This record gives sequence, C-alpha cells and structure tokens, in this order.
Amino acid sequence: KKKIGVMTSGGDAPGMNPAVRAVVRAGIFLGCDVFAVYEGYEGLVQGGDLLKKMEWGDVRSFLSLGGTNIGTARCAAFRERAGRLVAAHNMILNGIDALIVCGGDGSLTGADLFRSEWPSLIEELVSTGKLTKEEVAPYKHLTIVGLVGSIDNDMSSTDATIGAYSSLERITEMVDYIDATATSHSRAFVVEVMGRHCGWLGLMSGIATGADFIFIPERPPKAGEWQQELKDVCSRHRAKGRRKTTVIVAEGAIDSELNPISSEEVKNVLVELGLDTRITTLGHVQRGGTAVAYDRMLATLQGVDAVRAVLESTPDIPSPMIGVLENKIVRKPLVEAVKLTKSVADAIESKDFDKAMALRDSSFEE
Ligand code: ATP
Repeated sequence: KKKIGVMTSGGDAPGMNPAVRAVVRAGIFLGCDVFAVYEGYEGLVQGGDLLKKMEWGDVRSFLSLGGTNIGTARCAAFRERAGRLVAAHNMILNGIDALIVCGGDGSLTGADLFRSEWPSLIEELVSTGKLTKEEVAPYKHLTIVGLVGSIDNDMSSTDATIGAYSSLERITEMVDYIDATATSHSRAFVVEVMGRHCGWLGLMSGIATGADFIFIPERPPKAGEWQQELKDVCSRHRAKGRRKTTVIVAEGAIDSELNPISSEEVKNVLVELGLDTRITTLGHVQRGGTAVAYDRMLATLQGVDAVRAVLESTPDIPSPMIGVLENKIVRKPLVEAVKLTKSVADAIESKDFDKAMALRDSSFEE
C-alpha cells in the first residue's frame, strides 16, 4: 500500500486546505494511506505527533476554510543535510516514501533536493546503524510532487497558483471600499499590495479596480522621471472629472535603476500635486479568508492529479509540479519551473526588463 505524506510549506495561501482535502480523499479513494505532515518540513524533522494518518472525515469542511489547518512553517533545520537525514529517518519509520508538497518555489526546491539526496541519506542511515539494510530495502526512491500554493502567482509554467485569485479578490474588494471613501472626500489613496518579484497582484487588482497608476517590479518607471509622469496622469484624470485617485504599489516596486519605490514616496508626489493623500497597506488581509471558487476548484483538481502523479511516478521521471495552462491541469518538471521563475528575478536584477517580461510571457506557454 502506497503511503503518501502531504504538507503545506512556506507562506500560507487560501486554497491550501482544499488541496490537502483533495490529496487525502483522492489518496484514500485510490487505495493509499495518506499522512498529514504538520508544520511544513518541521513535521518531517520532528516526526512523532506531527505525522498523522488521515481518515476521510479528518478533512471534512476543509473546502471553505482559509489558511492551512495542518500548519505551515519556515524550517531552518531542513535547509541542512543533517535535518533532511532525520526527516528521511522519520519517513521510513512511518513507511512514507512519497511527498506531495504545497508551497512556493523555496518549498518545492527543498523537496526536489530531498529527492535527489534520498539514496545517499538512506545509505547513511544504514552505515550509521540507525536502520538495517532490510528495513530500508523498500524505500529506494523518494517520490516528490509539487502543488504551487502562493498568493503571488509568481511561479512559471502555470497560469495560476493556488491562492492567487482569492488574494486578488480580497484586494479588489478592499480597493472598492477605499474608493467609496476616496470619492466621497475627493482623496487620493496609495494602496500597497503584496508581490515581491511578481507584480501580478498589483497589475490585476489595478485593472480590476481601474486604478490611475500601477507600480510593479517587472515594468519599472524611469528613475527620476516617474514622479512627473505620475503627476501628469493623475491630474489628467482629475481634469476629466474623476473625484478620486488610486495608485497601486506592489511591495517589490522599483524604478529603472532598481531603487525601491515606497508608498511614502508615491504619497509625497501626490501631496505635491495638492491631493489629500492617504496610504493603505493591505498587509495580511490579502492572505486571509476563504478561498474563492476558482481556487477551490484548482486545488481539488490539482490535488487529485498530484495523487495520480505519485502512483504513476518512476525513478526516471523528473519530479513533477502540477500546474494549469489554458484551463488544463498539466504536469511540468518542477526543477525547470523553479529555474524559469528564478530567471525572471535575475533579469529584473540585471535591469533587463524586456527579458523579464518575455520570460513571464514564455512561462505561460505550453
Ligand atoms: P513563499 O513563496 O510563500 O515564500 P516558499 O515555499 O518559497 O513560499 P520558503 O521560506 O522559501 O517559502 O521555503 C519554505 C521552507 O522550505 C523553508 O523554511 C525550508 O524548510 C524549505 N526550503 C526552502 N528552500 C530550501 C532549500 N534550498 N533546501 C532545503 N530546504 C529548503
């Protein structure tokens, strides 16, 4: 009987609970035992109560719950080989040799590293007398399948990450609230949204709310010139009768010289224009709440496919990441997707913004 571990790791995202539910139930349906690994990689390193065999009823009502009930954490120990050795030991003690990880690029990188190291970890467990040859014999390979849970929609090779549309919905709702008061008082609002290297939330919420101006890392405005451009655009809109001004700033916003653009700076420019300006940093409300229908559906379809991918895996197939491209659930090589994601950040850092945009676009192609 296949024993699969499922965990959520890194920053939480709405839809992680539905993903865990799908893995648990699809796993049971397909004849596997499914273990919840609590607190991300910490659960593997500590073992014991943090590894729990799940029954059908254990994930009841998970579909409509925000956050992740099995917990998530940043685990320093797992970054070290010694931590991963303990993790491998705990997995074998519980008979687990397949992991479905729902997390961001860091979590998925860690998972693939674990898989590549697995044979040597097993060897070490035997050579140091922790386990016998007979005990490790059934666990020659570790199967890893990635599910991308992230509000940022920052992973290449998938159109949407689990949680991104829920976060976008929340931001849109909040900006609508702000707009009501902005229009009443004829104010300007600078709204800061999440997104470090990826401006998807900023761009899409800007489109969805009809913002006057949007700052995202992939399309930085010219250093020293954006201030005047911002003033020109906002005054033009005001001159046409608009009573409010909304500017969206992604947390990773920069100018063409890579200087960070803060909400404070943007506010100061609007104040110079004579606008009564306030800053709203949305912060963690962007992560909260229940997942929108799209994320529940995505998490469910991908969770089911993740279990199938485990059952169909062979040692020669690279670890897959479950994505969605043009509305189809797809499997992509996890390592390639992470590499492509990193190359966008690298292009931004080397000020090659056209390349960054091209890479973002190319990542959405089959
Ligand atoms: P988010 O996008 O929300 O930040 P993430 O998955 O990228 O999510 P990280 O903090 O980078 O979040 O990673 C989560 C955990 O995964 C780490 O605390 C660590 O335990 C493990 N991890 C990340 N990178 C590695 C790595 N290179 N090697 C081993 N483990 C890693």
